Amino acid sequence: MMRIGFVGLGNMGGPMAANLAKAGHRVMGYDTVATMPTGVTPAVSAAAAAAEAEVVITMLPNGTILRAVAEELIPAMAKGAVLCDCSTVDVESARAVAAEAAAAGLGALDAPVSGGVGGATAGTLTFMVGGAEDAFAKVQPLFAVMGQKAVHCGPSGAGQSAKICNNMILGVTMIATCEAFALADKLGLDRQKMFDVVSTSSGSSWSMNAYCPAPGVGPKSPADNGYRPGFAAELMLKDLRLSQQAAEAVDADTPMGAVAAALYARFVEEEDGRGRDFSAMLPRFEARHRS
Ligand code: NAD
Repeated sequence: MMRIGFVGLGNMGGPMAANLAKAGHRVMGYDTVATMPTGVTPAVSAAAAAAEAEVVITMLPNGTILRAVAEELIPAMAKGAVLCDCSTVDVESARAVAAEAAAAGLGALDAPVSGGVGGATAGTLTFMVGGAEDAFAKVQPLFAVMGQKAVHCGPSGAGQSAKICNNMILGVTMIATCEAFALADKLGLDRQKMFDVVSTSSGSSWSMNAYCPAPGVGPKSPADNGYRPGFAAELMLKDLRLSQQAAEAVDADTPMGAVAAALYARFVEEEDGRGRDFSAMLPRFEARHRS
């Protein structure tokens, strides 16, 4: 059993910390706002949560907050302990925090997740991890409690890189699936027939097959629940912006990702997308015309 510090106990961090405590680990938690999950001992500060921990996990909103919290955590942590950030942040922040941790004699991992609040609660997240092999091995038993799979992707930043590339594909395929459904509607094609064909043809994808944006068609998804998230459109926008930021930094040409980011920005910031699932792009296209 390990001594764990956990900072950021929101929608994702709360159930992740609760699962670690339930598995018998000693978890000290800190959050500026959120309530303590069952089994987690409250700490008075991030530094206090970290002081005696072998592994410190962070689950925070963005890279700026991560950098600020890491500045408090790193000097408080014992030599040889591992700082494991599970937030989705920009690659640059992930690498900067890892470098600071290494300079202080600590291990560091960037380990963003896929699977959402449902996966965090059920302990079925997927972790994509960047950092040194020995740090990965040390945290692996905790990944096994909080998730069903952890892939060691490479050195620091590789976890965040995998996450934003995956979500760039997801954003683009969801938009493509939604606009194709809206076109099929206008062509008079039955949605169920559209699903039956595409889900077993070359247009198939996770967006169509596992998370179908059309209500009443395919497996149960947020579309069947009035497009309540699920995965909120504003979180998809965050990840698409991170992928564009990374693409700019390394001079990669990502035109489809750029269009997806612009469309989700419009949907969330100018239309009615905020607070709706990212698959609510379908009713958006349904209501629109060509110009
Ligand atoms: P959230 O806003 O519910 O939780 C973040 C928590 O961090 C909040 O409780 C907040 O009070 C706390 N916090 C902020 N600043 C702090 C500070 N200085 N010290 C201590 N605590 C602080 O967000 P979430 O949905 O739990 O997401 C967390 C991360 O996981 C994000 O980076 C997000 O992109 C990523 N993520 C979320 C989902 C999802 O479906 N919600 C899925 C995959 C990845």
